[in-house]
Amino acid sequence: EAGFDGVDIKACHRYLVSELHASFTRENSKYGGSFENRTRFLRETAAKIRREVPSLIVTTRLNIYDAIPYPYGFGVARDGGTAPDLSEPLQLIRELLALGLPILNASMGNPYFNPHVGRPYDQPIVGLNPPQEHPLEGVARLIHLIGQVQRAFPDLPVVGTGYSWLRHYFPLVAAGVVERGLATLVGQGRGAFAYPDSVKDLIEKGKLEPRKACVACSACTQIMRDGGQTGCVIRDNEIYGPQYRRHRRVAPDVLLSESDRCWDCAFAMCQEACPVHLDIPGFIKAYGRGDLERAYEILMDRNPLSEVCALVCPVEVLCEGACVENLLNLQPIGIARIQRAIAKEARERGLQAFELPHESTGHHVAVIGAGPAGLACAAQLLKRGHRVTLYDREAAPGGLPRTVIPDERILPETVQAEIRHLFAEAETFGRLDLKQTGLDADHPLPWFRERHDAVFLGVGLPFTTPLPTATQRPAGVEDALSFLRRLKGARGALRGVTVAVLGGGATAMDAATVALEQGARDVYLIYRRSLAEMPAWPAEQKRALERGVHFLILSQPLDYTSENGRLTGVVVARTLLGPPDASGRRRPEVVPDSSFVL
Ligand code: SF4
Ligand code: SF4
Repeated sequence: EAGFDGVDIKACHRYLVSELHASFTRENSKYGGSFENRTRFLRETAAKIRREVPSLIVTTRLNIYDAIPYPYGFGVARDGGTAPDLSEPLQLIRELLALGLPILNASMGNPYFNPHVGRPYDQPIVGLNPPQEHPLEGVARLIHLIGQVQRAFPDLPVVGTGYSWLRHYFPLVAAGVVERGLATLVGQGRGAFAYPDSVKDLIEKGKLEPRKACVACSACTQIMRDGGQTGCVIRDNEIYGPQYRRHRRVAPDVLLSESDRCWDCAFAMCQEACPVHLDIPGFIKAYGRGDLERAYEILMDRNPLSEVCALVCPVEVLCEGACVENLLNLQPIGIARIQRAIAKEARERGLQAFELPHESTGHHVAVIGAGPAGLACAAQLLKRGHRVTLYDREAAPGGLPRTVIPDERILPETVQAEIRHLFAEAETFGRLDLKQTGLDADHPLPWFRERHDAVFLGVGLPFTTPLPTATQRPAGVEDALSFLRRLKGARGALRGVTVAVLGGGATAMDAATVALEQGARDVYLIYRRSLAEMPAWPAEQKRALERGVHFLILSQPLDYTSENGRLTGVVVARTLLGPPDASGRRRPEVVPDSSFVL
């Protein structure tokens, strides 16, 4: 009904069906012990699919040799070694043929335990030792064992596997294999990632180009192990290079070596630069020792929203900017990455965020605003035994990180997950309530004071500065926070539009990059001082520039132009920098008669 012509039942690489074939030791199971039982699942599944949908092609990718000693491997001799013995795999194929198997792809090994058996490579993934054999030995084993299957069943089209290591020579070997009756067809996995038009080149040019072939580096496998989507990192680098690096940066082996690199400074400059003075070397070293509980305890002591902060803090101007390794080797310790890993793993493992005192103090505190400040305050109050009601005009807590900061930096689900974890116990024991009520005309401050013993105001900074010299505010002019809130999670909302962003802070950078992501044709960032005075931190500026935001520095927005009440342009004047003003930055001075309409 879904339009497929065939089904390939994966019975290879020691995933479920393949593993059952070697379940010799599970003698009491319907799917273990005897050959009949071990192969029952595949045979019965294939037969049942055939029965239900007779027109469907039913085939399988079958491990004919696990290279794991008996009694845990299929297709191996029963002498405790790993020598192949294909008598059982051949018997299974015979029975599958009787069920109508029209084509077979044979494979071997397990990609986690002995990946060199199924896909010979030059470089293993992280954590695996290089195999004790040359990759050509692996290629030869694949060819000859699959050849035994083909020769046993000459009328069955058998697809050979494991040719990618041969790079651009693979068609020559494949031709020899087919000519000698060792396979009917040859398939490529990694080779096809690296060189998707290899067959076209082969047909049109009679050969493959070495510079387009797979180099058997295993980076495509590494992306999978690190949790990403796989593809060729070498030949499709623009797409998979950033993904490979992004996942590598947070892989446990990389974070552990970051922890090793940390000096455990006695008077840590990173800690000094952290606004809440987290014991950074403390949690880094606890993580390195594998003591997740202690590492999380250190984080929770001062920063209940550690995961959120690790994702949104401007660390390059805070902790990581101050790290001694930054000054010595231009490469700070990955503090935020380690912090995120600890907080995320602690949450996923259900570690308690903080201990709730048995007895309540009986005091009830109103926390107005469920953004980071309000949430942090609520956590500290709960730790001290007070009861808390969190008020926010939004339906869910999380504040700007949940509703405004772009998804690229933090997902709303991440914010919600950390908050849920943080307050799970307090909610269960009735110490915390959440109410969708804001500080407004119906609920002024006295309303809260009458009902609580204390009130904390964590309402944030919800207002942006309007253009002071503007004579009008036509439709199309929007403040940055409502712009970001409106576009959070949207797709293609600004296709073809031209956007001007006024200002040079972090929010302006977010607005500019989000506008581009939403399909804006051109985005101009208009800033009246120079790059040196720009408040957005350098990484944010770089990100916006690399995305293609046009920076108009030394440019002062003065007014808007409009037609029928709709924005048509921005009046901009050139500036020169004068002496420093009260902010300590050089004052922009408008150049007379330099204005133009953008
Ligand atoms: S990343 Fe590319 S070159 Fe490296 S093994 Fe995978 S397909 Fe081959
Ligand atoms: S300054 Fe750097 S090296 Fe020193 S404790 Fe902090 S993270 Fe470690």
